[in-house]
Amino acid sequence: MTELTHAAAAAVRPAVPGYRARVDAALADTAPNDSASQVWSALGAAEVLRDLYHRGGVAGIGPDPDRLADLLGVVDARADNGVTLTVLVQAASAVPLLAACAPADGPVRHALDQVLSGAAMAALAATDRTAAGSDLSGLGTEVALHVDGTSELLVDGGKRWIATACEADYLLVLARHRPGRHFTSFTWVLVPASAPGVGIRSADTDLLTSSGTGHIELTGVRLPMDHLVGRPGRGMVEFARHMGTERFAGALWAVALTSRVLADTRQALVTREIDGLSLWDNAAVRQRFAACLVRVRQLRALCEVLGGRVVDHHDLAAAAMLKSAAGLTVDPVLAECAQLQGAEGFARGGAQRIRSEAGVLGIGGGVTELVLGTVADSADALLAELRS
Ligand SMILES: Cc1cc2nc3c(=O)[nH]c(=O)nc-3n(C[C@H](O)[C@H](O)[C@H](O)COP(=O)(O)OP(=O)(O)OC[C@H]3O[C@@H](n4cnc5c(N)ncnc54)[C@H](O)[C@@H]3O)c2cc1C
Repeated sequence: MTELTHAAAAAVRPAVPGYRARVDAALADTAPNDSASQVWSALGAAEVLRDLYHRGGVAGIGPDPDRLADLLGVVDARADNGVTLTVLVQAASAVPLLAACAPADGPVRHALDQVLSGAAMAALAATDRTAAGSDLSGLGTEVALHVDGTSELLVDGGKRWIATACEADYLLVLARHRPGRHFTSFTWVLVPASAPGVGIRSADTDLLTSSGTGHIELTGVRLPMDHLVGRPGRGMVEFARHMGTERFAGALWAVALTSRVLADTRQALVTREIDGLSLWDNAAVRQRFAACLVRVRQLRALCEVLGGRVVDHHDLAAAAMLKSAAGLTVDPVLAECAQLQGAEGFARGGAQRIRSEAGVLGIGGGVTELVLGTVADSADALLAELRS
């Protein structure tokens, strides 16, 4: 084609919208109070969930890092942190875990297809009622395989503080199939939320209320063996791989959330006058605000440099670096924004509330202290990289 015919073809063919524009369009008709399942369903119906995992036109297991940033940025702009949390955990952990383990057919494949189409939601239930979340190998939920010589499995135990639990159709449950802390003792099980023996109650909290966060009881839950997700003994390995992507996603969300609150704060500073001068013109205020901008820009730079390493190469040290950086950035930045907004920060859904909810970025998916420990484990390699 000549340049002219190229131009003519472009003029008659509608432009193919970019991924971010497609996510925007998918959510354009959602209302601010829509539930997590309504938002997830809108994303699925517009095919943006399936396309999240397309890299260079090929369907893969991990999300495209740029598309993940776009998805979380657009969902965050709806300013419902609970809904963003459910989208994040499903898109970055639950779906990739299902995709990595799903055979060509059977219930795990069916669940994956339903979740990707937005017709169903899945919760990732690792944190256990019998052990600290920071001590996952101590978890007590058990799965007995081929129970009584049958082709069935039996799950008993309980999970606490699980995002999406109250709205999920499927629970991805991390259980032990043998005693001991060895990493090969754990296995994922796909538990339909409607299965006999499953009880779910909402977590008693005023924060992130639309995240459907809840506690799960599993009492004698009997399921066919094809509800195992991946091979027995691979549970912890798969968890570590996909938790890396969730930690990266947390850092992306931290960038979107803090920059949204910073934009609101700047607007408030520009319009607030003290003795005839806008607060934005106060040098001390500007410096505090600028320091926040620097922190967020640093976090975004880390995401840009390390995201591919986490998603494509399962670089757990890079994931820990991102998660630590998010945890260390969000609280001081949002605390500064809330302080700069004065009493307005206390309004319903205001900066003080957002700051509390954003605390989940330093807790869920590994507390900041724990991931800093992983960063310290890589100190020699990190120092060598910094000095090369
Ligand atoms: C809103 C919300 C949603 C969640 N969603 C999910 C989900 O979808 N799926 C899921 O499986 N879990 C989920 N969780 C649970 C979350 O992953 C755990 O809360 C987290 O792993 C921490 O576990 P814990 O609460 O038992 O805290 P603990 O492990 O008891 O830690 C308590 C505190 O002790 C300190 N501490 C812990 N370990 C160390 C250490 N090594 N060094 C120094 N200090 C330390 C830290 O200050 C830490 O905050 C969610 C939690 C929340 C609040």
